[in-house]
Amino acid sequence: MNIANWLHAAAQCWPGRPALFEGARQVADYQGFAARVRGLAHELVHQHGVEPGDRVALFMKNCCEYLELMYAVWWVGGVVVPINCKLHRSEAGWIVDNAQARVLFTDDGQVFAPNELACREMAGRSRTTIDVGGVQPVPYSCNADHLAWLFYTSGTTGRSKGVMLSHGNLAAMSLCYPLDVDAVSALDAVVYAAPMSHGAGLYNFIHVRCGARHVVPESRGFKADELFGLATQLGNVTLFAAPTMVKRMVEQARCIGYAGEGIKTIVYGGAPMYLADLQEALSTFGPRLVQIYGQGESPMTISALSRELIADRERPDWSRIVSSVGRAHACVDVCVLDTQLHSLPAGQPGQIAVRGPTVMHGYWRNEVATREALVDGWLLTGDIGYFDDHGYLTLTDRCKDVIISGGSNVYPREVEEVLALHPEVFEVCVVGEADEEWGESVVAFVVARDNQPLDERSLTAWFVARMASFKKPKKYVFLTELPKNSYGKVPKTALRQWLQEAPGTVVSP
Ligand code: AMP
Repeated sequence: MNIANWLHAAAQCWPGRPALFEGARQVADYQGFAARVRGLAHELVHQHGVEPGDRVALFMKNCCEYLELMYAVWWVGGVVVPINCKLHRSEAGWIVDNAQARVLFTDDGQVFAPNELACREMAGRSRTTIDVGGVQPVPYSCNADHLAWLFYTSGTTGRSKGVMLSHGNLAAMSLCYPLDVDAVSALDAVVYAAPMSHGAGLYNFIHVRCGARHVVPESRGFKADELFGLATQLGNVTLFAAPTMVKRMVEQARCIGYAGEGIKTIVYGGAPMYLADLQEALSTFGPRLVQIYGQGESPMTISALSRELIADRERPDWSRIVSSVGRAHACVDVCVLDTQLHSLPAGQPGQIAVRGPTVMHGYWRNEVATREALVDGWLLTGDIGYFDDHGYLTLTDRCKDVIISGGSNVYPREVEEVLALHPEVFEVCVVGEADEEWGESVVAFVVARDNQPLDERSLTAWFVARMASFKKPKKYVFLTELPKNSYGKVPKTALRQWLQEAPGTVVSP
């Protein structure tokens, strides 16, 4: 089973359907898309000697060629290694080396060649140079276990690891989408506003399978107004957005009086969406939000929370349900384990584990990490959470982020939820700091709304009126903005390190 068969079939069934768009401008229909892929496949084999199983790295910003290249690699049985374009060249070079890539594609004139690697520039190439002579007319035939994608993790704890995803993993993940997340039709347009090297890129498969449109914004990244313009012009737009992106979209939409016209679905995930932010997003965009919970090791597919549940604010248990990450996806088993890896009943927090056809085959050339992550067929996610009696899973934190203060566990997420509701708080992130008396104490990094001075006492009063006092932050650090990595997540390790290096310092707005 080669995932490129989906493109081949789409081109055969619907050759004239619009496929690739740069902004609102169509640059290929499905026939043209597949023809370009075959042309690039020819180049991979005849110019670069790519053979089945060879890795081909992509270090490029989002572009239509990104999709064409990936499918070309799969067409000839190769393995794509998409690298986040925001990484430093040395980090990208490390990944290229680690993956033992045969060829690297870059753009923006970034030509560099670790280990004398063949390095090809995609930017500025003519879209018409196609030589399909001699290229295989159908995708390379392989079984579902054949490696398709080396998905390098964000590496917030040490070196990034190459998650090995097979064609079978990608197919299972994609088939879950219309079942558990959102129906897809040929009229849809998926917009790639987040890096295609990561979560956003995974949405392409089901949209190729259904013959839908693929849109790369002209900015090749995320700009809220551009996105609103595209949605209004193209209609039926779906996009993946990390919670920080949703927050920025809400702010911008409110400034210009936009209410989600042309957007079909905003899929959010990848980091916690606080209740306060979700409420604002729903008030601004209406019933257009769906949540997924996954990780590179089981991409997009651990659990999902439906549009209907998110939008149903009349339900008495609404706050509880939307604070969860929904119910387990159809194709996986999800359980919660104690530290001895025994299954825990509903209500008890422990490590979340996943089993099923979406789970990775291991980490590339890293047996130690593979053995730690895959135990008896279960993927240990490193996330802590609990099920309720109705099967809704609530995430509390990453295992390593839990704060143990005076022997009690404090989950930063619950502290963040309470502070995020404070009317003068714009953003918040909570971490633990070493404390001689308590072992660890709770520290809150806070960004005030409009950067107005915020009173610590008012935050403490707000907090103790809503949550156990032992969980209250012992220290507040006011910042003008929270640091974010290139996936829009706040790197808690960096905040902890900052506290270690600057103990006792308090930065005022
Ligand atoms: P990555 O592999 O970089 O996509 O990161 C995956 C991690 O992001 C997960 O293990 C979770 O800790 C976090 N995450 C993913 N989806 C959600 C979600 N819906 N809510 C909260 N955290 C999430």
